[in-house]
Amino acid sequence: MNEFTYNALPGHIIFGAGKLQSLADEIDRLGCSRVLVLTTPEQIDQGEMIKELIGDRWVASFNQATMHVPTDVVDQALDVAEAANVDCVVGIGGGSTTGLGKALALRSDLLIVAIPTTYAGSEMTPIWGLTENGIKKTGRDPRVLPTSVIYDPDLTLSLPPFISGPSGVNAIAHCVEALYAPDANPITSLIAEEGINALSSSLATVVNEPGNKDARAKALYGAYLAGSALAAVGMSLHHKLCHTLGGSFDLPHADVHTIILPYATRYNAEATPEAMQRICRAMGTEDAAQGLYDLNRSIGAKSGLKDLGFEENDIEKAADIATQNPYANPAPVTKEGVIKLLTDAYHGVRP
Ligand code: NAD
Repeated sequence: MNEFTYNALPGHIIFGAGKLQSLADEIDRLGCSRVLVLTTPEQIDQGEMIKELIGDRWVASFNQATMHVPTDVVDQALDVAEAANVDCVVGIGGGSTTGLGKALALRSDLLIVAIPTTYAGSEMTPIWGLTENGIKKTGRDPRVLPTSVIYDPDLTLSLPPFISGPSGVNAIAHCVEALYAPDANPITSLIAEEGINALSSSLATVVNEPGNKDARAKALYGAYLAGSALAAVGMSLHHKLCHTLGGSFDLPHADVHTIILPYATRYNAEATPEAMQRICRAMGTEDAAQGLYDLNRSIGAKSGLKDLGFEENDIEKAADIATQNPYANPAPVTKEGVIKLLTDAYHGVRP
């Protein structure tokens, strides 16, 4: 048995259909009594539902959470939090809303209760992101890890299929890269394999029957596992490429993850046979990259970067950026190799 180091993270997880009802008790358990509710403009109704549910523990709401956490939005939310003298933030939504809660925790000592409604997984990680003047910075800080997370799959029933599918594959990408991370260990690999299994066996049903509660619960369970894996280990070429394409070319986060994953998996396949074996076992497929490609087809995902408005003549520029400060990766990261990967991903060819 190989030696390993595992930095297990704290956090109180409540999982199950209808578990949103435990929110008020959870706030009391944390010793908090003055709550700020965070949402995006699209989820104001869910924010109002939380307000009703927690009664006089509610003191303020802020509903302008925005993708990639712009610092001016954080400033506005912090003003609201200070004016209302809040002691706890409840964020209901996806990675954008959770990200805003994390940014507030970074600049205050507020506790966070996260109620995820997508499969992004941010609620399980101590990773924050902030965007200022168009540049996104990320970092790790234990203060931003939500104190409690309530996973209620009923809240995901309204997540539209075109967001649900890519959001779920984004979570699978966390698991795939966790399997070959330089700091992977037997526990994170177990979590990642189970995460791939739960997500890959439920996503097509989630997309084709969005109201299927069993599939929604399984996908959210997979997302929880994916977030736990992402939290514990470093990511590699796949995430580097997605950060480059999202950050420098303004492409949508989850869609980029979805398109790139089969090709990044192919790129690393030879260098990581054990990880590939685990992905195949989890998905019931003979070839990891092909299995992921077929999963994308089954959820009706966009097939190539060309479908996201990316320009073919930007491939070289993207490869330059992605290879400048590469993350640790099992296969050597070469500009030539990355250009081929991006060209295949641009056209959406079978990997
Ligand atoms: P998102 O939070 O922006 O949500 C996408 C849209 O779906 C929003 O309009 C949102 O209001 C809406 N939505 C969410 N849940 C819904 C529901 N149940 N019903 C109806 N509409 C709903 O997108 P995301 O993919 O969850 O998060 C992406 C962001 O999270 C990115 O900025 C990414 O960098 C970040 N992220 C961070 C980490 C981390 O560890 N820090 C991990 C993963 C993602």
